[in-house]
Amino acid sequence: AVLTNTLLYLDGVEVSFDGFRALRGLSLTLGAGEMCAIIGPNGAGKTTMMDVITGKTRPDKGDVLFQGSIDLTRLDEADIAQLGIGRKFQKPTVFESQTVEDNILLALKGGREVFANLFWSRSAAARAKIDEVLDTIRLDHVRTRLAGSLSHGQKQWLEIGMLLAQDPKLLLVDEPAAGMTDAETAQTAVLLKRIAKDHSVVVVEHDMVFVRDLDVRVTCLHEGAVLASGTLDQVSANERVVEVYLGR
Ligand code: ADP
Repeated sequence: AVLTNTLLYLDGVEVSFDGFRALRGLSLTLGAGEMCAIIGPNGAGKTTMMDVITGKTRPDKGDVLFQGSIDLTRLDEADIAQLGIGRKFQKPTVFESQTVEDNILLALKGGREVFANLFWSRSAAARAKIDEVLDTIRLDHVRTRLAGSLSHGQKQWLEIGMLLAQDPKLLLVDEPAAGMTDAETAQTAVLLKRIAKDHSVVVVEHDMVFVRDLDVRVTCLHEGAVLASGTLDQVSANERVVEVYLGR
């Protein structure tokens, strides 16, 4: 009953690599419809946490529950993706030689199989979904351009759009602002806030200006566990967080 409104629940998660404890009792919850930001110095365990949620890494101990009762530690990556957990890695991986709109089409559920079926790809349902996604990521004006010709920022937004095309219940986004200009970074924050209106999102990010723009609950990881959680102001005023960041 405690978990009714909890989409993602991690408790006491432990992961070791050859004796090195990358996660040491990590506990974290994300409410349905919530967006949160995960910060922390290099090696804090942020990537390992994402790997555990997506089934890439199996924890040695602890609970990882989705929608209150689905035990993610027992599922493989494909099953977890099928549940509606989408992950965006740091580097954009769009189909460079396809147009922007065809990238979205290819990402649609089952799109790969039915792409050959031109009848389906021109159907009203497919068109409507593509239009909706292009509007959300604000790339409608470049829809017929090849993805390879987009700016770095636009490629990142397109890849987020490809995830949205699959109607995810949870989006995991890894350092979306990395390598972006200040203007693109600001636009990315606006985009994620728009997406968060009807999606649950976990954002891992180093750029504090960007995290401030997101204006969401921030959790700072250190040595594989939560060091502090709260607003960005609360977390950045936390003595232990200051020590961890200045002590490097
Ligand atoms: P972050 O993403 O916060 O920088 P990571 O989750 O990548 O941190 O890494 C946490 C720690 O676990 C690091 O010290 C890293 O070297 C170690 N680690 C991560 N993955 C592996 C692996 N596959 N094998 C060995 N050590 C790993």
